[in-house]
Amino acid sequence: MSDERILTAALVLTGPADEVIEDGAVRVRDGVFADVGPRREVVERAAPGTPVLDLAGATLLPGLIDCHVHLAFDASEDPVAALRAADDRDLLLDMAGRARRLLDAGVTTARDLGDRGGLAARLRDAIEAGTLPGPRLLTAGPPITVTGGHCWFLGGAADGADRIRERVRRNVADGADVIKVMSTGGSMTAGGPPAWQAQFSVEEVTLVVAEAARFGRRVAAHAHGTAGIEVALAAGVHTLEHCSFVTEPALGEDHERRDRLIREIAERGVAVCPTFSATLTDVERRLGPDVLRPWLDLVHRQYEAGVRLIAGTDAGIAQAPFEGYAQGLEWYVRAGLPPGAVLEMATTNAAEALGLADRIGRIAIGLDADAVVVDDDPRNGFGTLADPRLVLRRGRPHVPAPRASAKAA
Ligand SMILES: [Zn+2]
Repeated sequence: MSDERILTAALVLTGPADEVIEDGAVRVRDGVFADVGPRREVVERAAPGTPVLDLAGATLLPGLIDCHVHLAFDASEDPVAALRAADDRDLLLDMAGRARRLLDAGVTTARDLGDRGGLAARLRDAIEAGTLPGPRLLTAGPPITVTGGHCWFLGGAADGADRIRERVRRNVADGADVIKVMSTGGSMTAGGPPAWQAQFSVEEVTLVVAEAARFGRRVAAHAHGTAGIEVALAAGVHTLEHCSFVTEPALGEDHERRDRLIREIAERGVAVCPTFSATLTDVERRLGPDVLRPWLDLVHRQYEAGVRLIAGTDAGIAQAPFEGYAQGLEWYVRAGLPPGAVLEMATTNAAEALGLADRIGRIAIGLDADAVVVDDDPRNGFGTLADPRLVLRRGRPHVPAPRASAKAA
């Protein structure tokens, strides 16, 4: 028996910023969109008696895509200590709870860019089987890093060509959908290389990309420093994470080199995930708005240069909560991006960068019925996006927890 229904809404945003249907509707059947258009037409085309859910006054838009999360981290002050204190069984339970919170926030697809022991892949399979609520997950497993390098404690350290090849194959064998490589150091690894330092050579990252390609996997590169961005770009990675152009303080900034790289990133169509999240709101509260201006300007500069930006939160790292997606989007608007372009970062652009444009990212016939229903028009602000009325994942309705508790109160 097919599970079929019509949902009507004051506004249907199909994904691309200029595609808006007023007084619209979708028909959902067997987990996919079977129809989309003006309400009257969708109702007329449906079989008589098809159930109709009237989402009066609401906006329906594609399910949100978080291109960068870490379900294995707990978003506390010290997520690394918490991770290392937890055994795999406890950790997996915590990860299941965090996946549900992502879904509560309207995230219907999330790319996990680093966990321990491939646990996220097991969670992905349980969610796919319908055992647990959560977004569609793409998982990387332990990121490939150098011995003692950024996030080595996740288990992905590999030095030299043979070890790197073996690590890619191990991750694929353990169920990874995507390969993550730490092209630079980072801030959360005690004693590891600083964020501006490249961890691998061009030859080594090229090897990661080539080996991943043999298994049909894309590569995401953690890249803070300019040197590591240059390496990852030359190696042909598919997405650049953070891409913050950090330089060694003693050397100062090289604007010419940065701008040349930004042009090249745009020309090659490599997607950039700046990983803005609710963390920035916290930073602003503690340190004032001026601290963030250079970072916001950098993202605006990339947008102006035509770089394909995608949204991701780095949820799980210190102070980056799993319900902070919409707050992260606000920061792109603060950086000067039009709200429509920001919504594309969260939907159509993200789906393309993940290689899933034929399944998700838009409200279109034949695509997975992933959608989020909010009270206002998110193009006027993402306030209500943070508190969805309803989330659809493959057509299955999910009432977010905050809503459920508000109704009970
Ligand atoms: Zn990360």
